[in-house]
Amino acid sequence: MSVTGAARLAGVMGWPIGHSRSPQLHGHWLERYGIDGAYVPSTVPPDGLEKALRALPLLGFRGCNVTIPHKTVAAALVDMLEPAAARIGAVNTITVSPDGQLTGTNTDGFGFLENLKQGAAGWRAEDGPALVIGAGGAARAIVATLLDSGVPEIRLANRTGEKAQEMGASLDKSRIVPIPWNDRAAAAAGAALVVNTTSLGMTGQPALDLSLAELPAKAVATDLVYAPLTTPLLLVAAARSNATVDGLGMLLHQARPGFAAWFGVEPMVDTALRQAVLAG
Ligand code: NAP
Repeated sequence: MSVTGAARLAGVMGWPIGHSRSPQLHGHWLERYGIDGAYVPSTVPPDGLEKALRALPLLGFRGCNVTIPHKTVAAALVDMLEPAAARIGAVNTITVSPDGQLTGTNTDGFGFLENLKQGAAGWRAEDGPALVIGAGGAARAIVATLLDSGVPEIRLANRTGEKAQEMGASLDKSRIVPIPWNDRAAAAAGAALVVNTTSLGMTGQPALDLSLAELPAKAVATDLVYAPLTTPLLLVAAARSNATVDGLGMLLHQARPGFAAWFGVEPMVDTALRQAVLAG
């Protein structure tokens, strides 16, 4: 679809940006809802981020996404930070207000939870502890969201143990239990949810080495990695009949708030969107 001079504009800034699936995602929605708008990928090096963000109002952009490596720095550059982003210390979605102010938020946790609810209808936060593997940037958003949704205990296992300790101390000491890396399989006992937030299992990376022998039959397994869609963790979980939820849906759902703010339509996540993004 072509755009007019009145088109609504948004985009994504990253460095590099070629791998991002956000242009296909937003492009699919723009087409589907017949919106006069464009979503533009920009390669922005770290030392250009501030200038690029400050140019948004001048260029008539309604906002943008920021991705690797800009998420943390962007949190310090925006004029206003929504509570979710302040707690996580990272921004992935920016909106421009009519007076040119930039507001940063973080929708990764929202995307994670919506994907889990859509993919595992039987899962309830209060069902039991969650075992979270990894304590990087994405994990922080997921742990904060699981805490907010009422999960009674989060067992957090990270290769570098100090990071799990730090996250526990800064988010919620009483409900986050740091687990030594070598005890991660045992920590699956009694868990209602297991989440891989590491990059292990991604195409070109080793598989996550995690035995699920102790995981209860009714627990749900989910992975943030979505290339491949069926990761080694999800394969093992499915083979022992645990419900599984792949990571692509998180990417799709995290985009909803930004699209709604910039383009004025609440978009839907469905099979057609999944196929469009996978084909891209
Ligand atoms: P990050 O901040 O770099 O964190 C990476 C995590 O992986 C850390 O916990 C790290 O442990 C762990 N790790 C890396 N290599 C490891 C190894 N060989 N053995 C054990 N642990 C290892 O990255 P991130 O931004 O959190 O992203 C993590 C993954 O989530 C990536 O695959 C990313 O693509 C995916 N993701 C998906 C979505 C989605 O929408 N589905 C959204 C965001 C991120 P150490 O602390 O010990 O290094």
